[in-house]
Amino acid sequence: MYRYDISFEVTSVCLLILMLSVMHTKRQLYILRNKMFYLGIYLFLALNMIDIVATVLVNHTIEMGSPWKTQFQYVLSIILFILQQATLQVFLTYVMVAFHKMRGRLLLYKFFNILTILDILAVSTDFIHKQLFYFDEMGVYSNGRLHFIVYLVPALFGLYGFVIVGMNKKKLPVLERHLITIIGIFTILVFMIQILLLPQYQVIYFWSTLVLASIFFTLQSSDYYLNRSTGAFNSEGLMVTMADKMQRKVPFSILLMSACDFEGIKDGFSTKNKQKVYRKIVSEILQRSTIKRKKRKMDVFRDDDKIYILFYDNVGAEYSAMKIGSWVTDGIYIDEIAPKVKVVATMLLFDFPGRIQTEEEFYSVIKYFMTDEYYKKYNVMQTINEEFFRKKKRYDDVRHLVEEAIRTDGIEMYYQPIYSSVRDDFHSAEALVRLRDKDSIGFVSPEEFIPIAEQEHLILQLEDLILRKICKFIQKANLQSLGVQYIEVNLSGNQCMQVDLADQLTDLIQEYDIPPNFINFEVTETSTIDSNNDYLLRNMRQLQSIGSTFALDDYGSGASNLKYLVDYPFEIVKLDKSIVWAYFGATNPKTRAVLPYSVRMLSKMNVRIVAEGVETLEQRNELIRLGVDYLQGYYFSKPICELDYLQFLREKNCS
Ligand code: C2E
Ligand code: CA
Ligand code: CA
Repeated sequence: MYRYDISFEVTSVCLLILMLSVMHTKRQLYILRNKMFYLGIYLFLALNMIDIVATVLVNHTIEMGSPWKTQFQYVLSIILFILQQATLQVFLTYVMVAFHKMRGRLLLYKFFNILTILDILAVSTDFIHKQLFYFDEMGVYSNGRLHFIVYLVPALFGLYGFVIVGMNKKKLPVLERHLITIIGIFTILVFMIQILLLPQYQVIYFWSTLVLASIFFTLQSSDYYLNRSTGAFNSEGLMVTMADKMQRKVPFSILLMSACDFEGIKDGFSTKNKQKVYRKIVSEILQRSTIKRKKRKMDVFRDDDKIYILFYDNVGAEYSAMKIGSWVTDGIYIDEIAPKVKVVATMLLFDFPGRIQTEEEFYSVIKYFMTDEYYKKYNVMQTINEEFFRKKKRYDDVRHLVEEAIRTDGIEMYYQPIYSSVRDDFHSAEALVRLRDKDSIGFVSPEEFIPIAEQEHLILQLEDLILRKICKFIQKANLQSLGVQYIEVNLSGNQCMQVDLADQLTDLIQEYDIPPNFINFEVTETSTIDSNNDYLLRNMRQLQSIGSTFALDDYGSGASNLKYLVDYPFEIVKLDKSIVWAYFGATNPKTRAVLPYSVRMLSKMNVRIVAEGVETLEQRNELIRLGVDYLQGYYFSKPICELDYLQFLREKNCS
């Protein structure tokens, strides 16, 4: 006969209360896993507290047994068993949810659910629970015939839980993986000690509390999901929340707000000020979300310049989204910075479940939205429609084609001859890439797939392929002997920004044994170049030092060409189709003046001028009269494949 000791339970209770109070000071993700974890902790706390009461009572009754006390003890013990079983069930569900095991084959899990029900029913039945435990005449707790079940059931639950964790260990961070192995080994040890050595102490409960605490401060730590500077959740938190809602098919709406500018701040916009604006937006949204305390209405996540707002009630979502959207774009009062800051943002609102079913689809829609200029309108609340998905599908298809082409060398180079009026021959050609469309017999336009390749970070691999194709052709076809002086090669904005571009190109030219002056690189002004112009200048200088030349492409289509012309050492300027056609189509004398004056200015700057888009004899003659020496366009030839280009050269240059 022994007296039971409650010191372990008392320590457990203190630790559990500490955990719960820490939990309440921090914002927690609104997901099933968290609900299960905290429900489990509350249950376990109750379990420990009742255990303390029961134990005190048992110790007490040893001295003075009385029938009503025995009755009370039975009731307490039954509640204890039920609570223990419920706690086990909740934590098992927690493990299942944490590893996304709630889908698919759940046979074993269902078996454990049934076990829980049976266990609770059994223990509530007078006859059966007496087989597990009973109180003797003295009021002393004694083991029944089937007492082993009291240990067997929790052991089974523990084992199954560890099997699931073990099978999914790879999903955990390394440190946590080791932690779980250690916990597993120790749990078996503690179990043995409890049964064999220390039955009068609740060692197992205390150990469980320690395990819960270690999970609480590592895997369950909410800090990992918080965006420190604003108090919103971060992108990790968004991912976890989305996964939770989608897997359980819980409906919600989401508003994406992507800020690109802030109006109303005069003295520049520092990161610190930016944080202030975001903090204000977040705190305001959080305030609105906690109007109804019991059920969370919305959540806010921040990922750089993007803010995601999740609405858990689909009905009011659209209205709330509109209100938030107009509040942010009309202007926010932030005293320390400026009286009113207007956020210029793109906004997209959509529902789940709807056209989007999985997390991958969600992120690809967001990504596509951010690239599509048509949908990406500022301060306009967009919703996605069929048209959006049609365009997105095309985008995905083209991206797939580019990936395929890179893998299987699936591009072709076409050449568009350039006419020299001085020499009256085709001294040069522009190399233009063609991507075969597998579904139709035709090609996908580079105007469509180059921007997609850039967006998807495939451009550098693609450009490498293009350059090799061109070099191989120049080397094999011996173009010099056919009167060609150089080939024009387009460089993308991304390419120009590469630090080692010049080295790469030099290597390539040497590898194929091509004279560097046989290549002229065409560069178009882009925003990428604009913000990092140092790189371009360095690359240009290095390549020019070995003999290559540069052309400024699409002159007259943008706005700030003059800056480029003055700042960069271009040898050639290519007049864009639009300014050429504007001259011929215009009735307005002002429009007609642009081309002649451009030509005169460029001649003064000593650059060679190429006019693009020459389609008629009249255009050819007029351009030559104005002083344009080099002409390119359908009038002379469309871009043609390698064989046709060689044939063209033999006919035109060698006769
Ligand atoms: P771009 O560099 O301005 O190329 C000239 C475009 O004008 C070519 O379109 C050409 O077929 C077209 N064109 C030429 N003459 C005429 C004409 O008389 N009338 C009309 N209507 N069009 C004419 P393409 O081949 O579709 O290429 C479109 C754009 O794609 C190019 O514009 C260039 O920016 C890009 N691109 C093409 N090939 C490459 C490449 O290998 N690398 C890179 N980075 N970009 C490329
Ligand atoms: Ca070009
Ligand atoms: Ca051009």
